[in-house]
Amino acid sequence: MLSQVVELIENKNKFGITTHIKPDGDGVGSSLGLYWLLRSLGKEAEVIVHGDVPQSYRSLPGAEMIRDVRSIDREYDAVFVIECSDVSRPGIEGLEKQFTVNIDHHSTSEHFGTVNWIDSTASAVGEMIYNLCKAIGGKITREIAECVYMALVTDTGSFHFSNTTDRTLKVASELVKAGVKPAEISEAVYNNYPWSRVELMRQVVATIKRHDNGRIATMRQTLEMRRIAGAVDGDNNGFVNIPLAAREVVASVYMREVGEGKYRVSLRSKGDINVARVAEKFGGGGHNNAAGLSIEGDWDTAEAEIVNKLRIEINQYDINSTEAD
Ligand code: 5GP
Ligand code: MN
Repeated sequence: MLSQVVELIENKNKFGITTHIKPDGDGVGSSLGLYWLLRSLGKEAEVIVHGDVPQSYRSLPGAEMIRDVRSIDREYDAVFVIECSDVSRPGIEGLEKQFTVNIDHHSTSEHFGTVNWIDSTASAVGEMIYNLCKAIGGKITREIAECVYMALVTDTGSFHFSNTTDRTLKVASELVKAGVKPAEISEAVYNNYPWSRVELMRQVVATIKRHDNGRIATMRQTLEMRRIAGAVDGDNNGFVNIPLAAREVVASVYMREVGEGKYRVSLRSKGDINVARVAEKFGGGGHNNAAGLSIEGDWDTAEAEIVNKLRIEINQYDINSTEAD
C-alpha cells in the first residue's frame, strides 16, 4: 500500500524502475514520472525496459536515458514494477530475485511484489504516481507533470473512457498548472505516426465483421498485413476502438497474428459489458472495458470461441440490437 511505498523510498537509495514489454503511455509516463520524483528526492534511479521506447513517448523528459535491459545487471535496493500483471511481464531475467515494488491499477494483478500497491480506482498508474508525490511531500516539477500527464491522457483515451473520474481531471488540472501543454502532448502521441500506420489501418479496417446482430465487431491483422505496410510497433494503437464508433456495437475484438496459429487479442466494450471476465476465461485479464488475451488455433475457430464467450457476457444485459448480416 501507499504508506509502505513512501517508507521504502525514504529508507532506500538506489532504485530500478521497469514496466511491461512494449510499454504504453502509462508504462513509460509513470516510470519516468517516478524517476523524476526519486531524483528530486536526491535518490539514485534509472528506468530499465526490455526493448525500444515507442516513438510516441520519446519526447518525454528522460526518455533518452531509458536503458534497454534483458536481465538485471546492476545492484538495486528495490525495483519498481509498473503496470504489470506478473513479474515476467517486463521480460527481464532475475527480476524475481529483486526486492520488487508492484505498482498497478489493474484489479487482476497478482500480488507478486515484495511490496504491492494496487489501486483499481486509479485511471492510470500515473494518477498513483501523482498521489505518491503528494504523500511524500514532493514538488510536482514540470518533468514529473509531463510524464504523468502522458500516462493519464493515453490510459483514459484523452479523458473519454469510463475510468476518467473527478480525481483524474483534478490531477490533470494540477499537471497543467505545473507547466504541461496538453496540445503538445496530444500532437506527440496522436499525430506523429509514420505513414505505415495509415496503411496498416486501411487493411485491418477492411476485415471488420459484425456478429450477434451487430453488437460484436471483430477485426483481424495478419503478419502479411504488417509486412506490406512496413508496420512498426505501436502503429496499431487504438485500432480496437474503431468499430465502437457504431451505436449498436457494444464489444470489439481485435485479433493480431503473432506466429503460426497464434494470436494476441484485444477486447473493448461499452458500459456494463465486462470484457476482463471474458479475457480471464482464456487466461488473460484487464479492466471492465479493456482487456486482452492470447489464443491459438485457426482464425475462424479462435474468433468463434471469443465471440461465443462475449455473447454469453452480453446476453446478461438487455441491450437493443440492429439486424446485421
Ligand atoms: P490491450 O488490449 O491494450 O493490449 O490491453 C488492454 C488491457 O488488458 C490492459 O490494461 C492490459 O494490461 C490488459 N491485458 C492485455 N493482455 C493481457 C493478458 O494477456 N493478461 C492480462 N492479465 N492482462 C492483459
Ligand atoms: Mn495503465
